[in-house]
Order: sequence, then structure tokens, then C-alpha cells
Amino acid sequence: PFVITSPCIAEKAGDCVEVCPVDCIELGSDQYLIDPSICIDCGACEPVCPVEAIYHEDDVPEEEVSFIEKAKEHYNL
Ligand code: SF4
Repeated sequence: PFVITSPCIAEKAGDCVEVCPVDCIELGSDQYLIDPSICIDCGACEPVCPVEAIYHEDDVPEEEVSFIEKAKEHYNL
């Protein structure tokens, strides 16, 4: 799945929500989050993020890897 990382916390633009074909992005307590159990890896959300907060799980920068677990916890996975 794709993962939303720290730049979202200050931005929360939400453009990703509009383009996701399976409606798996929602606003959490401090950022938007992708449900990893529903994401179909289409990649549509990545280029529309104005702060480049979205990465494929395998490409998340080292300093942002905690956001993979944060999303799983949000969805109780
Ligand atoms: Fe939605 Fe596609 Fe982004 Fe997954 S990669 S969250 S399915 S837009």
C-alpha cells in the first residue's frame, strides 16, 4: 500500500481523497491516512499531494518509516 508521511500534518490538503478510486483515505486526528488493507496500489494519490507526503510503502524515507505503523494502528491492523 501507499503511506502518508509527516508533511501531511502541517498541510492536510486532502487532494488525495478526491482521486482515490477505492475511497480508502480519511482524515485522522492530525493527518490524512490510507487504509493499507484497502489500498490497491494504483498510485493516483502520490502525484497530487502538494507537499509530496505520499510514498509507496517500499519507498518511504528512513526518517518516515514510523508512519507505516501509524496507519496500521489507526485502522487496527
Ligand atoms: Fe487510493 Fe490508489 Fe493512493 Fe492506494 S495508491 S490510497 S488506492 S489513490
